[in-house]
Amino acid sequence: MSLFKLPFIAGATLGLHAATTAPNPPPKAAEKRIEPTRLEFMLTSPLFRNTQKAVYWAAAWAEIGIIGGGLDSSSNSPWSERVVSALAFGGAPHSVRITPSLVLGSGFVVSGALLRLYCYSTLGKYFTFETGITRNHRLVTTGPYGLCRHPSYTGAVLAYFGILFYFGSPGSWFVECVFKGSMLGKVLGISYALMMSLIVAGLLSRIEKEDEGLKREFGQDWVEYAAKKTKARGRPKNAGSCDSGTPTFIALENANLEPRMHFPQATFKIDVLIVGGGIGGLACAYALGRSGHLVRVLEKTAGRQRGAGVRVPPNLTKILVEWGLGNELKKCQTCRKTTFISLESGDVLGVLEWKEDVLHEAGGQFLLIRYDDLYQTLHRLALSVGAVVTLDTTVTSVESTPTPSVHLANGTTLTADLIVCADGARSVTRDVVTETKNNATDSGHTWYTVIVPIERMVRDPELAKWAQVPQWPIWMGDNRCAFGFPIGDEYSFSLYWPDTDVPLDAPEGWNVYCPTSILNLSPYDDRVRRLFNMMPTAQRVKYVVRDRVEDWVDHSGRILLVGEAAHPLLPHSTQSASMAVEDAEVLGVLMSHLQSLEQLPQLTEGFQELRRKRCEFINDGELSNASLTTMAAGEMRDMRDAGLRQSLKTGIENWDDGALRDQWEQIEEGFAYHAREASEDWWRKWGSLGDAAKSGEGFVIKIATSSSKIDTGIQ
Ligand SMILES: Cc1cc2nc3c(=O)[nH]c(=O)nc-3n(C[C@H](O)[C@H](O)[C@H](O)COP(=O)(O)OP(=O)(O)OC[C@H]3O[C@@H](n4cnc5c(N)ncnc54)[C@H](O)[C@@H]3O)c2cc1C
Repeated sequence: MSLFKLPFIAGATLGLHAATTAPNPPPKAAEKRIEPTRLEFMLTSPLFRNTQKAVYWAAAWAEIGIIGGGLDSSSNSPWSERVVSALAFGGAPHSVRITPSLVLGSGFVVSGALLRLYCYSTLGKYFTFETGITRNHRLVTTGPYGLCRHPSYTGAVLAYFGILFYFGSPGSWFVECVFKGSMLGKVLGISYALMMSLIVAGLLSRIEKEDEGLKREFGQDWVEYAAKKTKARGRPKNAGSCDSGTPTFIALENANLEPRMHFPQATFKIDVLIVGGGIGGLACAYALGRSGHLVRVLEKTAGRQRGAGVRVPPNLTKILVEWGLGNELKKCQTCRKTTFISLESGDVLGVLEWKEDVLHEAGGQFLLIRYDDLYQTLHRLALSVGAVVTLDTTVTSVESTPTPSVHLANGTTLTADLIVCADGARSVTRDVVTETKNNATDSGHTWYTVIVPIERMVRDPELAKWAQVPQWPIWMGDNRCAFGFPIGDEYSFSLYWPDTDVPLDAPEGWNVYCPTSILNLSPYDDRVRRLFNMMPTAQRVKYVVRDRVEDWVDHSGRILLVGEAAHPLLPHSTQSASMAVEDAEVLGVLMSHLQSLEQLPQLTEGFQELRRKRCEFINDGELSNASLTTMAAGEMRDMRDAGLRQSLKTGIENWDDGALRDQWEQIEEGFAYHAREASEDWWRKWGSLGDAAKSGEGFVIKIATSSSKIDTGIQ
């Protein structure tokens, strides 16, 4: 036996001690968000860890005792003989020696322990043995975390493997004396090996759970980091899923969800409840989750519903590209032109080409997609940043005192730091926020939409050309219009028609259907009749005119309206999905600057400040487009048609008719908007004033809700 063994005994024992000693106390109960399994609970309990340490120390002292006794044996001292025989357990103490495998085992323990100490020092106060996330926890990607995703687990596995190797090596006290010495020793040895395997399995099973918690907490930042560390491009593991389906627009199974942009995270994270999981709700869930907040969406339907076609103008494409969907958007149909046709005669009146240079100027493509594809994409994006989407959950009302709460139809009440109401045009939350009754007026018009399989359409040679060319033709008639566009292997065709049979209180929405035979289309372009009547039923969405909503934020500043709940639009507007997603982008950017709960009202008021004027401008534009395309016969309509005919000869650039030029300029302005830049500009201008207020320098920021003025006063 040799003294050379002592450093290896010390290395293995001290290494194990360090690797199993918690550098910080457990997170407080309120901060612990990842519940442990029984096995984890046992492994991380102080009783288990202390017993484990006591066993290693006892084994180390036994080995030292044997070495010491052996060295002293030459003196024939009775003391050393007694020590050696007591520690021999019936085995062969003279076989306790230094061996290569024992040295290797000790080396493994020391390396694992050093790696773990490096992790402790890098994570500092965030390193706890209990899987948990503390408030204002931050994602650390430096030091050992820059090398691999779970260096501390790697260190622990290395240390446990090393000690198993050490104890199990020939020449160790455990093997030579305890294991070889008696049957009990053999049972102990096998039990110990089994227990170590269980510990390692328990550690490995925690990794997945911890990943989920980190994804929920750090959203896109975590997804990005994890993808880099695992070299797994594409949809991250555990990104969550929603109903399967085969969207023609986005094959998301292999989608690249990595954002092209890096999005900042809020230093102060809050719980957000979103009422309504349509386009606006899901987009907000993604944008807020990406900014680091904990988001839950409450949606009354069972999830996917069949919509029709949606136009994605450049202002929306830009956002989706920045959200990492650029590659998927390449698979979409690009809208190249809009042909204006007389609904009565079928004559082509004019053409508006969506030229590359115009779109380039606007910063994005003009695309045609299926509603369901956009819905699914946003759903998956929301899940990818850890948002929880709860379906079949109807909200009956919201209130702000004593804390922002949501009441559900099943009698439950949920609370959050912020409530985002994205429950659409027929919002149940709007009147609570505005504290006024929002009036609904009958427009006398309804949208009827059919989705026709392209393969059926192409059998009619006259309809085939509409099906095969990615364009958006508009038939303009007296007090009515029709338009259509291809969406993958289907064609979305909508009629805006005077209604006599749809009262104001009739079921209204995107899941109401009626027979196509109720409309008499015989006086019009026969292609319109043939196309519409290819399907037996049409989706029926009544156009209900709603009062303009003045206040989007309640008096507490912690409940706000977004999407059509805030700015109801004409159904099937070119910009309806865009406005909801722009809202989400602006909200997400503003909320990424959140530093305290007191700052919330400043940011929600800022949101309204930024969004209301923009949405009113777009809504006015949509309404004037609608009146231009539904003009009654007369002098004005003749002037419009003359202007449009001019475009057939000279192109849109040379439109000199005042009304058409104004219309075009309005469209261009709508397209050029950049939601992220607009909100970042706002933050640069006004955010620092909010910081002054927060830091108690005596400034109060009061953002007027009915104008764009901001008052800054000293209290
Ligand atoms: C099923 C469906 C299909 C659509 N199809 C098209 C289309 O083909 N073309 C087009 O241009 N536009 C379509 N739209 C409208 C388009 O989505 C919106 O105009 C725009 O995107 C604004 O979205 P939003 O999220 O503000 O409102 P919406 O899209 O109306 O979403 C509101 C969501 O809130 C949910 N909700 C409402 N009340 C409650 C409540 N009390 N509790 C919980 N949840 C609630 C609704 O179920 C819905 O999912 C469709 C909308 C829906 C809901």
